[in-house]
Amino acid sequence: MKQYTHIEKERCIACGACIAVLPAVFQPDEEGYAEAVYEGDANRGVTRIPLDMEYDLWDAVDGCPTEAVRQSEYPFA
Ligand code: SF4
Repeated sequence: MKQYTHIEKERCIACGACIAVLPAVFQPDEEGYAEAVYEGDANRGVTRIPLDMEYDLWDAVDGCPTEAVRQSEYPFA
């Protein structure tokens, strides 16, 4: 299964949970809001996330209090 992710930044409250779970994929921007940065993705959601990160990605999705972490089998753009 392919997987892609990005952050709906308008929903993010900068709690840092997704960054703690999967820092290789999620990092804070200059204001502390999360964004997906894996391999230069720049929060576009078009970079395939390796399958060995699947469970951590699901933990990030499930752990986000505002449902801002989006995951899909298809690229977001
Ligand atoms: S877990 Fe959700 S609210 Fe918290 S930093 Fe990540 S995207 Fe933002």
